[in-house]
Amino acid sequence: MQRHAKVVVIGGGVVGVSALYHLAKKGWGDNVVLLEKAELTSGSTWHAAGLLPLFNMSYSVGQVHKYSVQLYQELEAATGQPVGFAQVGNLRLAMNDDRMDEYYQYAATARTIGIDVRFLTPADIGKLWPMCNTEGLAGGIFHPDDGYIQPADLTQALATGARARGATIHRKTRVLAIEQATSGAWVVITDKGDITCDHVITATGNFARQTGEMVGLDIPVISVEHQYIVTEPHPELQQRRKDSLPELGVLREPDGSWYLREENGGFILGPYEEGAPCCYVDGPDPRSEYELFQEDIDRIVPHIEAAMSRVPAFSEVGIKQVYNGAIAYTPDGNPIIGPAWDLDNFWLNEGHSFGITAAGGAGWQLAEWIVEGEPTIDMLGVEPRRFGDYANKEYLLEKNEEAYSHVFAIHYPDEERPAARPLRTAPCYGRMKDRGAVFGQKFGWERPNFFATDGMPQIDDWSFRRSRWFEAIRKEVDNTTRNVGLLDMTAFAKCRLSGPGAEAFLDWLVANSLPKKVGGLALAHALNKNGGVHSEFTIRRESDDSFYLVSAGALQRLDHDYIRRYMPRDGSVQFTQLTDAKGVFVLAGPNTRRLLERVTDADLSNEAFRWLTAQHIDVAMAPVDAMRVNFVGELGWELHHPIEQQNQIFDALFEAGEDLGLQPFGIRAMDSMRIEKSYRMVGAELSIEYSAFESAMDRFVKADKGDFLGRNELLASQEAGLRNKLVTLVVHGVDDADALGNNALTMNGDLVGRATGGGFGFRTGKSLALGMLQPDFAEPGTNVDIEILGKKYSAEVVPDSPFDAKNERLRDANEANETERLVGV
Ligand SMILES: Cc1cc2nc3c(=O)[nH]c(=O)nc-3n(C[C@H](O)[C@H](O)[C@H](O)COP(=O)(O)OP(=O)(O)OC[C@H]3O[C@@H](n4cnc5c(N)ncnc54)[C@H](O)[C@@H]3O)c2cc1C
Repeated sequence: MQRHAKVVVIGGGVVGVSALYHLAKKGWGDNVVLLEKAELTSGSTWHAAGLLPLFNMSYSVGQVHKYSVQLYQELEAATGQPVGFAQVGNLRLAMNDDRMDEYYQYAATARTIGIDVRFLTPADIGKLWPMCNTEGLAGGIFHPDDGYIQPADLTQALATGARARGATIHRKTRVLAIEQATSGAWVVITDKGDITCDHVITATGNFARQTGEMVGLDIPVISVEHQYIVTEPHPELQQRRKDSLPELGVLREPDGSWYLREENGGFILGPYEEGAPCCYVDGPDPRSEYELFQEDIDRIVPHIEAAMSRVPAFSEVGIKQVYNGAIAYTPDGNPIIGPAWDLDNFWLNEGHSFGITAAGGAGWQLAEWIVEGEPTIDMLGVEPRRFGDYANKEYLLEKNEEAYSHVFAIHYPDEERPAARPLRTAPCYGRMKDRGAVFGQKFGWERPNFFATDGMPQIDDWSFRRSRWFEAIRKEVDNTTRNVGLLDMTAFAKCRLSGPGAEAFLDWLVANSLPKKVGGLALAHALNKNGGVHSEFTIRRESDDSFYLVSAGALQRLDHDYIRRYMPRDGSVQFTQLTDAKGVFVLAGPNTRRLLERVTDADLSNEAFRWLTAQHIDVAMAPVDAMRVNFVGELGWELHHPIEQQNQIFDALFEAGEDLGLQPFGIRAMDSMRIEKSYRMVGAELSIEYSAFESAMDRFVKADKGDFLGRNELLASQEAGLRNKLVTLVVHGVDDADALGNNALTMNGDLVGRATGGGFGFRTGKSLALGMLQPDFAEPGTNVDIEILGKKYSAEVVPDSPFDAKNERLRDANEANETERLVGV
């Protein structure tokens, strides 16, 4: 066995072999090695049902799956190895209107990423799948391009392709430990000797946690049992074969939570049931290979019965075999593809519950990331760093079983899953709950989404359309606009960068100029190497050599890992994690100043405390860093405070604020207000798929300040001509549903862009969307069509910030006048 390699891939299931294949395809074939402790496919891959569902609500996963299906269609020709791809199509049934809404929302995403999906009536379904009872169906969708594949053949074809390009596979070679040399190189220790390499990719399926332990990573993966039933042949299916009729498409009834396909004249039925247990909780036996568990038919009886009533022929055949195997799961059911946190050149390709489907796309993007330095699609949905260290074993046990049982649930845009909650609560949690808060969860934190008042039940109401909370939000926005509102943003990610090298490093990391004066604030973006937007920070200069950074709570590990990855290693910059030490309240609305003046001695006048500055003030007995910014476009301050004094501040504010109309508001009201101000959000309007100029962040890019990360590529992309431009749109004619993001934007039927977010603006009284349009269509006044839940509406491009375009409210009118005088407007 060789002693050196550029990349070592651990794990010879379909996922690891695909990564190897794609690295070889990128030209690294002579220098990449795969190690498999037993035989290729001997983990979960061999017994998979081989289905390749294109359907996925996530923009990242959708693109990953789409690439795979295309690759698999071409793989036999490329490698000479049959893969058994049966492109029979895939039919998904709907038994209610909400399910149809889910399909409409999905179809919009599919359209924007180029997946062919067609809507069917119950009559169409009857023609396409004559053995299907169409009673009680609202409709369905059909993907003509997917189907199923033979997982072992697919893996062997990828292996053949990789070997043909020089890659090496060592079977029966177990990785025992992984160490890092002082040079930074990885040393992979196996039972056949050691290999030193630059990069390690782990693709170890059910062994993910054991592999993680080798390098001190708590990888948020635990497997769950999954069963499918193979039946005896059915005469009708056999007759169809004799009559040379086409094979039936894969049938899915999400409302009954099962899939069904033909197999050797019989059926395969796979249910996703409640109560499927986690398995291999402390890891599989090291010798485990080709392992199956005892079947548990009782658990899946309701789904068998549902399938029998939908496809009566299924009840006429005997069970031939039941497979019960392990599927790796993560808390949200999406895989983990990308760099491990806190480690250089260590890559995770784990937690694949649809690994046959995802393997192609995952290998493609990992190879791009490793060889070119960046992925080419927005990978936020599968980012390893989307979870934090709160995701320990006990958490995973609850969340992964929940994720499994939710595979076929309706994926509402405002869905908040209940398992393992509450997990992380700000001190004001109880007080917020008493005031009617209905919570959502981000990065483990409970955050009020909205407030149920006036006798409204304190529970959520998920929908693709305007639901019960629409009216609750109207009230919250109204109060914040007239009086003053308080939003708990304790979940924000916070850190400090300090030391003699802090200023120079941070200035290089972000595209904007740093605040010059102590107390100055700046909104700044860390780009990726291609000039796309990776992270957004509010930066406060605390002193000559100290900066306080605030970013999205959900992205804490991602943002902080990104900073540390680039930080000088000579000790000139120190990173201090402050997320759990600091609470944050946002106060916003015209009465904010009057309220704050009642609880602090500080001078809050426009002259003494200007917009976009910060000061240390005392609020009641608590020392507070007050920052005059907010995300809703009203006069306001963020109060960053010691978390242990949060309730003192909360009580002082509510005691002082009653006659000023102080009321809490939630994240959904914030989202509505931020769209009215055209404020962008990472993961929607800001993404690595779009350059900072495409996201129209020009005023936050100081190209002439000197070098910064991604600068040259950003300028080069501008030189080459931008392909998109972020715009604000007013949607006309909608009455019960607003854009949710990923809506297709068309002109005369041609796709010209996609909405990135949307919602109703209560202050403007308009349905709004933000979206990327081809620059030719981005001029204000242009009308395009937007598709919302299957219907087309006219959407007009309008100038940014349809609400208070001059920012008079957040500056406060007096100061706005003063600014106008100063700039001579
Ligand atoms: C019953 C069932 C049906 C399924 N049906 C489908 C389906 O229809 N469609 C779909 O997309 N997915 C399906 N899946 C899921 C699919 O099987 C997995 O997602 C996929 O096989 C994962 O592949 P992998 O390469 O990540 O893991 P694995 O195939 O488990 O491969 C991991 C490999 O790593 C090796 N390894 C681990 N530790 C070490 C070490 N220390 N040293 C060396 N080697 C090591 C193991 O031996 C193993 O071969 C199904 C799963 C089950 C259980």
